[in-house]
Amino acid sequence: MEHKKFKTEVSQLLQLIIHSLYSNKEIFLRELVSNSSDAIDKLKYLSLTDEKLKDYDFDPRIDLEFVAGENATLTIKDNGVGMSHAELEDNLGTIASSGTKKFLSNLSDDQKKDSNLIGQFGVGFYSAFMVASSVDVISRRAGEELAYKWTSTGEGSYTIEEATRDEQGSTIIIHLNEEGDMYANRWEIEQLIKKYSDYVSCPIYLSYDDETADKKEKDADGNPVKHVEHKVEQINSSTALWRQPKSSLTDEDYNSFYKNTNSDSEDPLFYLHTKAEGATEYTTMFFIPAKAPFDMNYADYRPGVKLYVKRVYITDDEKELLPTYLRFVRGVIDSEDLPLNVSREILQQNRVMSNLRTASVKKLLSEFKKISDNNPELYATFIKQYNRPLKEGLYSDYANRDDLLELIRFKSSTQEGYVSLASYKERMSEGQKSIYYITGGKEETLKMSPLLEAYKKKGFEVLIMAEDIDDFIIGSVGTYKELPLKAINKSGAVDDLKDAEDKEKIESVEDKEIVAKIKEALKEEVKDVVASTRLTDSPAIVVVDENDPTVQMQMMLKQMGQTDFPESKPILEVNCESDLVKKIGSSDDLEYIADLSEVLLGQAMLAQGVMPKDPIQFTKKLNSLLAR
Ligand code: ADP
Repeated sequence: MEHKKFKTEVSQLLQLIIHSLYSNKEIFLRELVSNSSDAIDKLKYLSLTDEKLKDYDFDPRIDLEFVAGENATLTIKDNGVGMSHAELEDNLGTIASSGTKKFLSNLSDDQKKDSNLIGQFGVGFYSAFMVASSVDVISRRAGEELAYKWTSTGEGSYTIEEATRDEQGSTIIIHLNEEGDMYANRWEIEQLIKKYSDYVSCPIYLSYDDETADKKEKDADGNPVKHVEHKVEQINSSTALWRQPKSSLTDEDYNSFYKNTNSDSEDPLFYLHTKAEGATEYTTMFFIPAKAPFDMNYADYRPGVKLYVKRVYITDDEKELLPTYLRFVRGVIDSEDLPLNVSREILQQNRVMSNLRTASVKKLLSEFKKISDNNPELYATFIKQYNRPLKEGLYSDYANRDDLLELIRFKSSTQEGYVSLASYKERMSEGQKSIYYITGGKEETLKMSPLLEAYKKKGFEVLIMAEDIDDFIIGSVGTYKELPLKAINKSGAVDDLKDAEDKEKIESVEDKEIVAKIKEALKEEVKDVVASTRLTDSPAIVVVDENDPTVQMQMMLKQMGQTDFPESKPILEVNCESDLVKKIGSSDDLEYIADLSEVLLGQAMLAQGVMPKDPIQFTKKLNSLLAR
């Protein structure tokens, strides 16, 4: 028997694990099972590629056994590639990975106490020592005759001696300590395997003694006779659904998988399943729930995508897997390239992960587009639930701006239901140079806005942006396919409507006089008064300067308790053809003109769902005018 000392870093790691991971010790089983599964994957690979091991025939399996009681043990046995004498020393006596070494040496003393940090980092084989008084590893390398037994209590040294093993593979025998003897239990083991290793691709068997008492049969003392039956049962599903070829899966398979893993009683709206090979290898399987998750609009929503690395479950609580605006997506990302012991910190800066994320977003967005093109009915259902988060993407995901612009939907002044920018563009009339929209206020108010009159007359469609997020995103959109988007309640859109005939109108002396009279009457209340070229039925409207927030937006900000923005005054646009405005033109009574102007401004505000500044004053003036 050889006695050897651990390399210092192993001793350090062991100390760290035993002291920091105390509250999360159950992960040892996941780590050992995943090592076994890796060893099996390695042998599978070698049997395909290695000269000596070509066509090596084996039936991959992992076996778990336990002995309860005073000398409790838990055994994890696999028929994977196994380890030679040298490999046992190298793998279990040193820390091979330079990343691990670096990670360890960079930990501050405080971090060493942070079990979360260490836990997420993943600790591999050595985690067995959290629950063990000692560990035996009996291993035989595939293609070799001799087996070796490695033994350690995890306290500075280990021994290696010759041993026997019938076939290739490794057997890890954990002599459970007081913290660990709870794991010598059938239910405990089954539950842990279900939780962490259900989708490990080879079968995991558990052997246990099943005791049944036969009531009819009694022993000499009259007690029922116990029958003990030794059973071996597979305890994982061993089918990573996402790893199976699409062609072998039915809608039913996908739907029931979704419902089981997301506790949803409804089938998903649709799903997508992608396998990528090449530079980065991964499988993704995404589901879109029929109804938006209840916490979709909470800041502390639970992310819906689980990360696996080579079928081993890593985390379901990582918000960085997909961008925030896709937080309603459910499913699985399974990477072949990430290290199993990937920590949250590492994940967030990892290049493999960021490639995966970019690819997943592209895939999702292009699937949404496909559905919008081919299945408008389904898309309408989808957009009803997810229009809002997609719109958020416009200001958070600039790289995919163009794709997102094709996906989002708005209400329209001329169409039923939701419309896309693309369909708006198609419907545009000959001389139309911009996409017009109106924001601020409820859909019903916006649809009745007097601002729409002139556009209606010209046959220009106007997008009704009634969702509260619209005001915030639309400014950042700017253009769609080089067409500028213009708010019709801002001054810039007006220019588009002016044609030669209208210009003449503006220049008329009478109009100028009227405008001057109103301006004089309203003074500081407005930024400007202009003669309208676009109103037909209404006497007046208010608009704001191109770069000012709309009147409604200002109102909303005030309601939200925000007061520290410069208040911008409205521009009053008057229809010089209307009777009311004509009356101002023909009067010399200054008080009468002042009242009329005041009412003109107030009713224009009201028509946009905004209270006049001084409602009592407004009503008084209105009453006095009515009485005259
Ligand atoms: P990791 O799995 O992250 O590399 P571990 O400490 O868990 O780190 O294991 C160290 C090495 O020991 C593995 O990389 C592998 O080469 C070897 N090993 C561990 N368990 C087994 C096993 N059951 N069969 C074969 N080799 C194993």
